[in-house]
Amino acid sequence: MNQQVLIANGQLIVPDNPIIPFIEGDGIGKEIWAAANKIFDKAIEKAYQGKRKVEWHEVLAGEKSFNLNGNWLPDETMNAFKKYLIGIKGPLTTPVGGGIRSLNVALRQELDLYVCLRPVRWFKGVESPVKYPEKVNMTIFRENTEDIYAGIEWMQGTPEAEKFYQFLSEQMGVKKVRFPKTSSFGVKPVSIEGSERLIRSAINYALQHNLPSVTLVHKGNIMKFTEGGFKQWGYELAEKEFSDAVFTMNQYAKIQKTDGKATADKALNDAISASKLIVKDVICDAFLQNTLLNPQDYSVVATLNLNGDYVSDQLAAMVGGIGIAPGANINYLTGHAIFEATHGTAPNIAGQNQANPSSLLLSGVMMFDYLGWHEVGQLITQAMETLFQQGKATNDLARFMQNGQPLSTTQFTQAVIDNL
Ligand code: NAD
Repeated sequence: MNQQVLIANGQLIVPDNPIIPFIEGDGIGKEIWAAANKIFDKAIEKAYQGKRKVEWHEVLAGEKSFNLNGNWLPDETMNAFKKYLIGIKGPLTTPVGGGIRSLNVALRQELDLYVCLRPVRWFKGVESPVKYPEKVNMTIFRENTEDIYAGIEWMQGTPEAEKFYQFLSEQMGVKKVRFPKTSSFGVKPVSIEGSERLIRSAINYALQHNLPSVTLVHKGNIMKFTEGGFKQWGYELAEKEFSDAVFTMNQYAKIQKTDGKATADKALNDAISASKLIVKDVICDAFLQNTLLNPQDYSVVATLNLNGDYVSDQLAAMVGGIGIAPGANINYLTGHAIFEATHGTAPNIAGQNQANPSSLLLSGVMMFDYLGWHEVGQLITQAMETLFQQGKATNDLARFMQNGQPLSTTQFTQAVIDNL
């Protein structure tokens, strides 16, 4: 019997008993994985009465792996993620010194997980710093492999930085570096393919989930060829590949130019009435302001790596969910996806039965949605909604809730199970 998740013609083929590799994680990883594992299994049982079941397969990484076999990220772990396509992980201690900068980055690069997916929504009952957190409901597609984050940089004062500056000044005629002798340099690659595959994934996601818009968030007014390219290629792609399903604000601008604003407005309204997906763009700084003022204007967001980093954290903070926000790194072409808790290992509370498993739980919800097992995600989400409304949560959340009743990790786990 096949137990491997496979992909054919861009569609996942999910057996009823898939093997899913998991990394428990360091610090609180052990506690939150134990909680999540229990809840996942109960929710699957409830949803499918034994017809479906996951066979969890532990793979090692991080401190646990290093202590057992002297290796932070063994080949077997990478091979398991390659083979089984899907995986889930708790937080990992970042090794200090040694060859690996970050285990998360190594996994992303090796599997070319080009989308960092972060859904952001508010749970009633969770304390938020904004007045109307219920208006925030967005899904961020952050490009994960390019941009200034590609790691192409040289420290000031090194022969490499000097050589790079020489190339700039002598071969490229660049005269704009203000302090060349003491400048570090970084390179920002943004490609057509890299932008297109990210934006295509965002548009597909919006269409599949019947969402109203995709917003391209960029800083193309200043960085014209990189961030500006992202916007331009995004619009071109939307109009070329999704012509029947979308209306873009680029088309709006063209109509406005030739036929006036009233005609452009009518075209936009007609597109909305026809349930077309609206593809628009906004400069990143304006986006950050607008999300505070009019968050309901945004649904799916596609953005570059650095912007995406800032945007994800601001939006998560707006719903009071920075500690419980889930995430996934995905390659929609190969099917590879790793779902992960977005917080760290919380060494200050590890082993104290206080850790909040919600980030890992909600990452699991994303994973089951990705697999098409939507009922599992719905059961878990509903149980969490019920508990948060009653003020029942681990202490990190409960202490800020009006009716907060702090629960230990194991009490919270049981309460979720009781509410499935
Ligand atoms: P952290 O996220 O571990 O902790 C920050 C604060 O949030 C702490 O007060 C902690 O107690 C609290 N917290 C975090 N998760 C919580 C949870 N689930 N429940 C309750 N409270 C929670 O960040 P840090 O202290 O800067 O990092 C610790 C280690 O984690 C470092 O080695 C860092 O490199 C690593 N890290 C890993 C990941 C990852 O694997 N995705 C992400 C961030 C940091």
